[in-house]
Amino acid sequence: MSTEHLVIAIDGPSGSGKSSVSKAAARTLGFGFLDTGAMYRAVAWWCLQRGTDLDDLAAVARAARELPLEMGTDPSAPAVWVAGREIDADIRTTRVSEVVSKVATNTQVRPVLQQRQRELIRELAERDGGVVAEGRDITTVVAPDADVRILLTASVEARLRRRSKELHGTAASAAIDATRDQIVRRDRDDSTVSDFMEAAAGVTLVDTSDLDFEGSVQAVLDVVRARRQQLAPSQG
Ligand code: C5P
Repeated sequence: MSTEHLVIAIDGPSGSGKSSVSKAAARTLGFGFLDTGAMYRAVAWWCLQRGTDLDDLAAVARAARELPLEMGTDPSAPAVWVAGREIDADIRTTRVSEVVSKVATNTQVRPVLQQRQRELIRELAERDGGVVAEGRDITTVVAPDADVRILLTASVEARLRRRSKELHGTAASAAIDATRDQIVRRDRDDSTVSDFMEAAAGVTLVDTSDLDFEGSVQAVLDVVRARRQQLAPSQG
């Protein structure tokens, strides 16, 4: 990687704010944006649509290879298309959130999507001068040589509160309970194949538990600025 094409990798658990913070950081920097979770969701949605048994590992891996997926990478309007159909809302349903870990823990699927992600990261970095890619294994597996590697985290209480407001418009206790599957259970399942709860060597931990959205974006931009100075001290 070089200072001309800055690759920024951001991982984190559900509700850490990773997606919205990464988008805002990419917008500020004028970089492309890649939501890798959306790719796992798109495979899950496609399998549900076609009636592919999610427990049939080889069939799901075949679906991942053949998926006619197009990722919109503008951070102001990121979108996902499958066979020309925009599926943004479809991949964020509770149904897809419930089953996506089955796709993500399929070890035949992961290398297929990881390879597509590496190609997209390279293309975007060259096209836009930089890219912010977010997910669960970007700092460790997809782009371990990224220029900036951040693990965005927050306490489980903060993450439950945020996701609950997002999904149900409130952080009342019933809404928090209804959100638990999407945060606690999903992260536990996902952790069996990638380690995104603790920062790997060389990865900067940004804890957003006590930060609001703007503060979280600023914290990420501060890490990027410090790293850019290290990479090119004279350009500051
Ligand atoms: O970030 P988001 O919640 O949309 O991710 C959806 C799912 O995709 C996660 O629960 C996880 O199972 C999977 N994922 C993954 N590796 C990534 C990004 C997401 O396994 N790099």
